[in-house]
This record gives sequence, structure tokens and C-alpha cells, in this order.
Amino acid sequence: MSTELEFPFADLPAPGATLCVEAGVHWVRMPLPFALDHINLWLLDDGEGVAIVDTGIGHADTRALWGQVFATLARPVTQIIVTHAHPDHIGNARWLADRFGVPVHVTLGEYLWAHAVRDARAGFTSEAMVALFRRHGLDDARAQALLARGNNYARGVPELPESYLRIRDGSAITIGGNTWRVIAGYGHSAEHAALWCEALHVLISGDMLLPRISTNVSTSTVTPQDDPVAQYTESLARFAALPADALVLPSHGRPFRGAQARIAQLVAHHEERCGALLAALYQPMSAGELLATLFPRELDTHQVMFAMGEAIGHLNHLAARGLVSPVEAAGGMLKFARTGT
Ligand SMILES: [Zn+2]
Repeated sequence: MSTELEFPFADLPAPGATLCVEAGVHWVRMPLPFALDHINLWLLDDGEGVAIVDTGIGHADTRALWGQVFATLARPVTQIIVTHAHPDHIGNARWLADRFGVPVHVTLGEYLWAHAVRDARAGFTSEAMVALFRRHGLDDARAQALLARGNNYARGVPELPESYLRIRDGSAITIGGNTWRVIAGYGHSAEHAALWCEALHVLISGDMLLPRISTNVSTSTVTPQDDPVAQYTESLARFAALPADALVLPSHGRPFRGAQARIAQLVAHHEERCGALLAALYQPMSAGELLATLFPRELDTHQVMFAMGEAIGHLNHLAARGLVSPVEAAGGMLKFARTGT
């Protein structure tokens, strides 16, 4: 098996333009106001129109670029598919669905998660998130910055569909005569839907398989003892049967071939992170104290949220494997100690 990834496209699509990557499959690239500064969206020829996979963050600049895309295409949107509920993927789903009068395909897990987070229901509040991070040792200044930010999700998702077409693992979606099969994935989001087209040998991987950065795997507010690392690596195994020539269309970075090599790199990456945490635990430490071990660089407020979730997730993973155990420390703080000698 080759360990090299192959990137068949030298060019990026221009803002508001499309780039054909396979027969009937078009790449659109939209801006994001984060350190991760772009997202890839996909248009699939569907009879007289196009199906859209993922929609971009619900900000004015992305909507203006969608306007340019539609002006050039001069074709209607036939259906919308959302891989998962993070703002850069679902942010314009309602806006596009209303504009074209078409349904949104999404999993139950992502649909309900989106509504709960947007409405700060079912325990998904900024206050609860910051309380979890404080228990795991996040310092005052960064905790205050996160609290002051409030519900950032709602800013990226101004509105959401209030009905949907439910997809789930194994669901088949027919687009332009091709069957796209849902591969559900966990650990990054509630019930992520990647899409595999056997006829084209194309995988729309969403955030589950990215070529250059590792997917965020976070423990979240309402599932504080979750082990997202195991959920994610187990989900990656679902892509292991893909043929070697499969073209992977990721949400961030460039389309690539070499899914198996990338899966091996990602599994090794998480093992390496776990090893670094164990090596750092010469005494009981909190996730907050271990942030610099996992992320030895300056983090903005948005990144602190992901970093804390990821640090807790890896510690929970080590605890599930019996390699560390939680220790109640002063001030209601939770630390972790290496087990054994
Ligand atoms: Zn995501």
C-alpha cells in the first residue's frame, strides 16, 4: 500500500465558481472566518438541475458567492444533503431549501443536535460548556472569553429546516442516475453522513477523512464521559473497504486518492497524541494543564473550544483503556493520573 497521498487537482476553484472533479461532480470552495479559512462544497448533476452537498456558513459573503454560482449555472437545485450539523456545513441549508423549494437530507442525530445547540436546549449552553472546561482545568481568562462569546453556533446558522428527509447508515440517495450510499460516522459529530458512489468511485468524506489536518474529536458538554477517539477511529474502519483508486472529496483541503494510507496516518496520529499525554502525566494533571502538550501554539478562543474538547476526549479515551484514572483535585477540578507504576 502506498503511503503517499495523491492530489490530482493543482488548481482550486475560484470564489463563486465551480471546478469539475469527476463526470457530473463539481467543487465549490467557500470562505470561513476561522483559522481554518475555507470549506469545500459539492454540486452533483441531477437531471436538469444540481444536488448540493453541504451549504457553507450562514454569513452574507457565502450567500453572495452562492448567488454567483447560481447565476453561472442557470440550473435549479433539486435536493440538498448535509453531511453534518456544524455551521460551515448546515449554515445555509434552510436558506437554500426555501429559495429552491427542495428538501434537506440529514441524519436524525445531526438534525436534532443542530436544533438543540442553536436554541441552547437539552444542556447545550455556553455556561454548561464553560463549566465542563473549568472542571477540567481551563484558566479564568480563556473561560471568560468563551463565556463572553455566547452562542456562536447561532451566528453561523441563522435558521434551520423544520422538517427534513431522514438519512441513516446505508441509505441510498439517487442523484443523476447514480446511487450515493450513506456511511455514518461518529466521534466528530452526532451522526455524520459521508457519501459513497460505487459507479464513480467517489467518496464525499465530509469531515471524517481530511488529507492534511486531523478531524476534531471532542467530548461535548452533555456527554462529559464520552470517548470520541474510539468512536472516530472505529468509524474510520468503515472506509477501509474502499477501493484504492477512490477519489476522496474532503470538506477541507484538496481532493485526494489514498484513503487507506490516510486512515493509517490518522489512527497513528491519535495513538501518538495518547502517547504524548501519558508521557506528560508525571503527576496528576487536568486537560487544561495538558493543552500545551497537545497544542504547543497560541490558540484563539474558537480553537480553545476545540482544543479543550479534544484534550478531554483523549483523556477519556485513555481512561476507557485503563491507562489513566480520574482524580478529584482541589477546587472541584478533575485531573488524571497514570495507572500502575
Ligand atoms: Zn465538522
